Amino acid sequence: MSAWEYIRRIVAVRKCVSCRAILRYDDFDESFCPTCKLAWQSAKVENCPECYKAATECTCMPKQLSSAGALTLRRLFFYSPKRENEPQNKLIYFLKHHKNARASRFVASQLAKLIPSELDTLGIDKSELLVVNIPRGRTAVLNYGFDQAAEISRELAKILGASYLPVIRRRRGGREQKKLSAVERKKNIKDSTYIKESDKERVSGRYILLVDDIVTTGASMSVSLAHLRRAGAKGVICLAVASDLKKEIEK
Ligand SMILES: [Zn+2]
Ligand SMILES: [Zn+2]
Repeated sequence: MSAWEYIRRIVAVRKCVSCRAILRYDDFDESFCPTCKLAWQSAKVENCPECYKAATECTCMPKQLSSAGALTLRRLFFYSPKRENEPQNKLIYFLKHHKNARASRFVASQLAKLIPSELDTLGIDKSELLVVNIPRGRTAVLNYGFDQAAEISRELAKILGASYLPVIRRRRGGREQKKLSAVERKKNIKDSTYIKESDKERVSGRYILLVDDIVTTGASMSVSLAHLRRAGAKGVICLAVASDLKKEIEK
């Protein structure tokens, strides 16, 4: 190890992207502390109750997404609000509340690994992709100062050598999703998101990677997907850091 590398490891403090424990000297280049790393690895291979495939292999999606014409939905792990103390959920929570380049880059690098098999099936090159995020509400962006799905998407585009194009926009106003019923949610998102006329031609004829942090019922994603399809997108691959295990499965 060079003297410089030695000094860097002594001086810089790096924390686990999930539990925020300070990483030990030997784990300096890791994203997680050893405990969280183990939990992360098992979360990624947790079996889907429908198709029995590992979370990262499963392509099951909520009915709303398939009927909106999504090509597929891929995720890194299954989410359940009951498991809020598990390391993978803490990572989601951290991404939402803190703008942290290391954490977004880590998640993007993991998502990027899911893409090649999808593209092979479709016969398209990753440079042809447009990465688009589901935008966070304006109030949340004001409160937190950033949009986590945008951060992840930007990093993902960099890794893939694709373009990041945040074409889904939010109007002013709109109600907070948390307090609404499923039907109200969908209407609320529909009314509060749009694609600008001048952006439509940039989307037309392209394959899109549509990115969000958590997919629960698929309402936000299916509305954005419909906007993209109307703007002429050729196909939309949905990507989420996590998806809700129970709510999502098509019955
Ligand atoms: Zn940790
Ligand atoms: Zn499945």
